[in-house]
Amino acid sequence: SNQALLNQQERRESNARSYPRRIPLAIKEAEGVHVTDMEGKMYIDCLAGAGTLALGHNHPVIIEAMERVIRDKRPLHTLDLTTPVKEEFITELFSFLPEGFRERAKIQFCGPTGGDAIEAAMKLVKTATGRQSILTFQGGYHGATHGTMAISGNLSPKKGVHGLMPDTHFLPYPYTYRCPFGVGGEATHEISARYIENLLDDPESGILPPAAMILETVQGEGGSIPAPIKWLREMRRITRERGIPLIIDEVQTGIGRTGKVFSFEHAGIVPDVIVLSKAIGGSLPLSVVVYDKDLDVWGPGAHIGTFRGNQMAMATGIATLRYLKENQLEKHAALLGESLLTTLSELQKDVPEIGEVRGRGLMVGVEIIDPNRPASSSGSHPANAELASRIQRECFDRGLILEVGGRHGAVVRFLPPLIITQEQLQEVISIFRDAVLASVE
Ligand code: PMP
Repeated sequence: SNQALLNQQERRESNARSYPRRIPLAIKEAEGVHVTDMEGKMYIDCLAGAGTLALGHNHPVIIEAMERVIRDKRPLHTLDLTTPVKEEFITELFSFLPEGFRERAKIQFCGPTGGDAIEAAMKLVKTATGRQSILTFQGGYHGATHGTMAISGNLSPKKGVHGLMPDTHFLPYPYTYRCPFGVGGEATHEISARYIENLLDDPESGILPPAAMILETVQGEGGSIPAPIKWLREMRRITRERGIPLIIDEVQTGIGRTGKVFSFEHAGIVPDVIVLSKAIGGSLPLSVVVYDKDLDVWGPGAHIGTFRGNQMAMATGIATLRYLKENQLEKHAALLGESLLTTLSELQKDVPEIGEVRGRGLMVGVEIIDPNRPASSSGSHPANAELASRIQRECFDRGLILEVGGRHGAVVRFLPPLIITQEQLQEVISIFRDAVLASVE
């Protein structure tokens, strides 16, 4: 049964395990947007491997790609040796890069997780600039290794881990709902941009010339917080004018999730370094850094690793990219994301505990608040993590898996597979509505 397996694994797995604590099921089978537990109960999976499963679980094109690797006797492990599969993967991925950048782009296979690629990106910019400090953002998330943890805003996992990378400067993210400057709205982005510009230009600010700025265009783990388009353009201008490489972490936002293939396309900007993982591997572990050739300062062997560029993951990655292209999946994500935002905003009108509904594409968050406690200087009521968890549990009991995250642990996050249909999305919304109403009673 579910419980027996849960108990068994809980006994032997590290105390750091996280998802099984809040999503207490044992998954036996999975297909499309659904997972089925040991007892045959079916759930709609709107966690989807934290946004990894763009095509859902076990999509036929993914399965076919894996079978073809076996049938054609392709190698399963090659280190980073040359193979036709790798060539095909690079060609498919590069076909999506913005013109102008595509011709200048270089790729480094990292591996195999998102955090590995972020580490590689930081090494790259440090080598290229000869500098050491990294500009990063409050509330951002970039991984769980020493280096990526250092540049992530989330404090609780850092507790007791000393000696993280120094020279990390946290800057204010334009989180309008809880504006760090107590203003909100447009003024938040304006002040954030001006503040950052001033820090960089003031020789007394204590900020060393940075090796890079790294950002998520929509903070994922931070609570599905989309940065305003204007602000993103400002960050590009500010970094370009000062010769600071801009790294965009597309680990969660990339490959159609936000309604464009790459999330920076919304702002019409091009970063110097793009970091990709999660969906790019079509369910299997794969991560890459794509960057401007001017930054290609690495000597042979400067970035190595046994499991870079897994062949099977490249094959399933190719299948994902082709499916995305043939079906314009990013447009589908944009459309369904809009409809999700609209419906949730309707629900917000009836539920004072919903503080904000926000997102971009199929990366949507609902911030749960306590409307009875006084608002802070930002004009927003305190976050209500306890109620968010209750909603998550009520959803779970009704057959819907949703993640809860955000800085205060009070954001219910929708990250469905991009292939979700309008009907399935309606079912998600209907379960969510029932769960919210049951939780606030
Ligand atoms: N960057 C972002 C934006 C992420 O969302 C994540 C994972 N949630 C990571 C980096 C780290 O990826 P991984 O867990 O594969 O190391």
